[in-house]
Amino acid sequence: MLTCKDQDVWSQFLEFIQKRISETEFKNWFSHINVLSSTGEEINLEVPNIFVQQYLLDNYQKDMMLFLPTKKTGELALNFSIKEVDKTKKIKSPVLPQDTNNKDEQQFNSQYTFENFIEGPSNQFVKSAALGVAQRPGKSFNPLFIHGGVGLGKTHLLHGIGHYIKVHHKNVNLKNVTTEAFINDLVFNLRNKSVDQMKRFYRNLDVLIVDDIQFLQDRLNFEEEFCNTFESLINQNKQIIIASDKPPSHLKLSQRLIARMEWGLVAHVGIPDLETRVAILQHKASLKNVKIPSDVAFFIAERIFNNIRQLEGAINRLAAYSRLINTQLTKELAQNLLQEMLSFTPQKKVSVESILQSVASIFEVKVSDIRGESRLKEIALPRQVAMYLSKELINESLQKIASSFGGKTHSTLLHAWKKIKTELEKDQTLFRQIEIIKKNIEG
Ligand code: ADP
Ligand code: MG
Repeated sequence: MLTCKDQDVWSQFLEFIQKRISETEFKNWFSHINVLSSTGEEINLEVPNIFVQQYLLDNYQKDMMLFLPTKKTGELALNFSIKEVDKTKKIKSPVLPQDTNNKDEQQFNSQYTFENFIEGPSNQFVKSAALGVAQRPGKSFNPLFIHGGVGLGKTHLLHGIGHYIKVHHKNVNLKNVTTEAFINDLVFNLRNKSVDQMKRFYRNLDVLIVDDIQFLQDRLNFEEEFCNTFESLINQNKQIIIASDKPPSHLKLSQRLIARMEWGLVAHVGIPDLETRVAILQHKASLKNVKIPSDVAFFIAERIFNNIRQLEGAINRLAAYSRLINTQLTKELAQNLLQEMLSFTPQKKVSVESILQSVASIFEVKVSDIRGESRLKEIALPRQVAMYLSKELINESLQKIASSFGGKTHSTLLHAWKKIKTELEKDQTLFRQIEIIKKNIEG
């Protein structure tokens, strides 16, 4: 039982901090935290994701020290656990005023706001990171490096950051470029002997947003200039946000630049699960004033699964049709209209069993060992890989997946997932092994 007094220290802290930060900041960082237990000796908090935890410790440690219990070592006696995500729920983003009246507005697609970005387990972390950087440019994670496959919302998030900064930090000098545009700019200025001017421009920015950095690969001369700009900005604590189709370590760029890009936070945007795809589809449809019945939305989202841009294409076609012919959308109609867009078979249902078998054969261990308790490295690694893949590929609750691993807990599974996810960024061999296992499972 919490005594009134114990619960109070957190409330007191909240009261204190609420007066010192903006309402939006408070809402974003504190309103989703729950106190699980609190004694005079320690406090256990439940946070929506690890980013919130990190952000609290990075930015509010000193303030928390004033109120919360500390250990003998002087550290905060504070434990965190991550809340299981409710996939159907949208976390409210701050509402942006419609008319920002800014001449630079054309830099950004007006639809690509945080508000219009639908969250699910695959992108919640990266969305929080993006919002964090937008709220405190240069003061949280720098650089922020966003990577993930085509059509999964990277550009949308970059523009979301841009919109947010334009509205909330009016005096910030911000530039949003694609890597192509940066290179073109550089070519133009080299030709006109005005490179110094360009350098000055870029190095005086407060925030630089660069999309599709993969296009810098194999462009040696440009890479060096980019790297210099990058370093000059970072050294002045200016915020840099980069998007790419691969993690830094998989880019064919100099070690120097790769290391710089890994300095801050590398965040992955994954393929949204079915519920999130349905939510995105419904949201996009509502922006176009089209009503899509729920069974039709599921029908489409089950068949277009790895690119949100395609999902939008489907809605556009349905919208055009329903404007012409005033009729109720049905699955049959969707099937006819979208024939060549839809995969013939819905995404194959992957089972824990098939994952275990593929993992076991690649790592040359027994399935029963993976399910067992052995902590030997030769067994523990394949087990963690299998857990990672299960979370990535299977649309079930963590609890249910974990129980298929000989009754492990969902936190063991989550721990394994995080560990492998981090390893993957650094370990090429592991990356390839996992790619092969995935092919085997899906093929
Ligand atoms: P990328 O840059 O990763 O290739 P984009 O940012 O261009 O992808 O996104 C493609 C389309 O999908 C855009 O119209 C974007 O608004 C939409 N989209 C992607 N993810 C989401 C999401 N989570 N919520 C809403 N729309 C999304
Ligand atoms: Mg893009």
